[in-house]
Amino acid sequence: MECSRHGNRRPTFICKHLQYGEGLGFHQPDEPPDEDWPFQNAWCDACDKVLVEEGEWNDRSESFAQIMAICEGCFEEIKEKNIKR
Ligand SMILES: [Zn+2]
Ligand SMILES: [Zn+2]
Repeated sequence: MECSRHGNRRPTFICKHLQYGEGLGFHQPDEPPDEDWPFQNAWCDACDKVLVEEGEWNDRSESFAQIMAICEGCFEEIKEKNIKR
């Protein structure tokens, strides 16, 4: 995908809360990206709570997260802002 700040980079997927959030938590799948889904994805604490309640990504958890695509450069920046140490 083409990013206005990072140029042509691979897409990644995050929940909409992380985009402008700070310190929201940063959850990623237990499994690393594989050939079927070679993209990174991440979601915040609030989405993780819904995900745990639902037990999986389904209509409710997905509509809460409103997953959006961003470039992997932006992904790293958002990770730094939201990850809890
Ligand atoms: Zn979220
Ligand atoms: Zn970018």
